[in-house]
Amino acid sequence: MTGGGVAKGGHRFHATILREYDIRGIVGETLSEADATALGRAFAVALAEEGGPSRLVCVGRDGRVSSPALEAALVKGLCESGVNVARVGLGPTPMLYFAVKELKAGGGIMVTGSHNPPQHNGFKLVLGARTLYGDDIKNLGEIAGKGRFASGQGTVEDVEVAERYVARLASDYRGKRELRVAWDAGNGAAGEIMARLARRLPGRHILLNEKIDGTFPSHHPDPTVAENLRQLQKTVIAESCDLGVAFDGDGDRIGVVDDTGAILWGDQLLVFLAEEVLAERPGATIIADVKASQVLFDEIAKAGGRPLMWRTGHSLIKAKMAEIGAPLAGEMSGHIFFADRYYGFDDALYAAVRVLGVVSRMEGRLSEARARLPQVVNTPEIRFPCADERKFAVVSEVAGRVVEAGADVETVDGVRVKCHDGWWLLRASNTQAVLVARCEAKTQEGLDRLKRDLAAQLAASGITPPAF
Ligand SMILES: [Zn+2]
Repeated sequence: MTGGGVAKGGHRFHATILREYDIRGIVGETLSEADATALGRAFAVALAEEGGPSRLVCVGRDGRVSSPALEAALVKGLCESGVNVARVGLGPTPMLYFAVKELKAGGGIMVTGSHNPPQHNGFKLVLGARTLYGDDIKNLGEIAGKGRFASGQGTVEDVEVAERYVARLASDYRGKRELRVAWDAGNGAAGEIMARLARRLPGRHILLNEKIDGTFPSHHPDPTVAENLRQLQKTVIAESCDLGVAFDGDGDRIGVVDDTGAILWGDQLLVFLAEEVLAERPGATIIADVKASQVLFDEIAKAGGRPLMWRTGHSLIKAKMAEIGAPLAGEMSGHIFFADRYYGFDDALYAAVRVLGVVSRMEGRLSEARARLPQVVNTPEIRFPCADERKFAVVSEVAGRVVEAGADVETVDGVRVKCHDGWWLLRASNTQAVLVARCEAKTQEGLDRLKRDLAAQLAASGITPPAF
């Protein structure tokens, strides 16, 4: 059905929506149903040119108000280009990834605005075994722009995968002691699956905001922002839970709080998950992004693993994982990727099952395990404005100066300077006109010194340092 007539006229996407890791815009302003149809048509061409033998594409959607219409327009574009579509319906992004694997599809597209405000929406794209990013996404824009479309008549089928997905998630739970767990879906697309998963697991489960509602009435579904975890923290304390887990708007990022309500950031969580994986796979490589604490890299090494620092960005981490066959990877942002007993994509519901297993088999409480980790003081991820035209230049200027000065520097993504008692990081965001910084040290005095060093470097490149 491919390679048929080329449609007349191209389609131009708004310049801002083709981003590094996904397609995203504001519905009615920069993103329309016509864009969704054109994306479907361009994706069909990319599938024919570089996909595997399958002409089947899975399509899923999140719970946003605009998602059903965008999904229908997308399916229309795929179908009229000769692609067969399996509509997996409303659910989290990892359920769509699961469907692609389960149905052996050639690709998948998720209609989702992830954790962004209600009026935003977009698409996450999988072609063959990889998540599309960077030039792949630009390529879709070029195909559409040139109107280099194919014609055909594909089929459309509704496929129920939720039950298989929940069963697959639950089948990997390896618990010992029964837990009390609070779960918060933030009214995001993971809500229904979260509730079904919790019902299948032993122990007592308290569900928060499990009803999918694209207006996000309780709080914003982004567990990397502490304020969004308040309701979960209160519940964990009031109900004497062993832990609480939260999901972002499309269920590919996890947030965790311990039994005292304290937040475990992605890099801390990965310490415990890595220990479990390494017990069964000694010497394995575990990947974490450049924003992660040194404690994580040190603990992986102590547990007999090989820590690998890699570039921030879920698509980049997944690609590296597949390349080197790493069983586990994670980002500070809460994307956790298990290839150990699972598929290697970022699935926060699956990560929750593994976290619960670890906590259930732990001697003592999660808060106690955390207290046993080497104690450091660090800043959160600090984001501050810098023009797109300047951001990469600033980072390379800073890198040039610190290398010249003989510092111990890692430049896999931005510049991460290591010293005797800590480190600082400066990198340019791939998606926004923003620089990202983080500092960590063994003591508060050390942290203050590192902040001053970083501020001086920024000032030397004409950037006003952020208020740390
Ligand atoms: Zn997400």
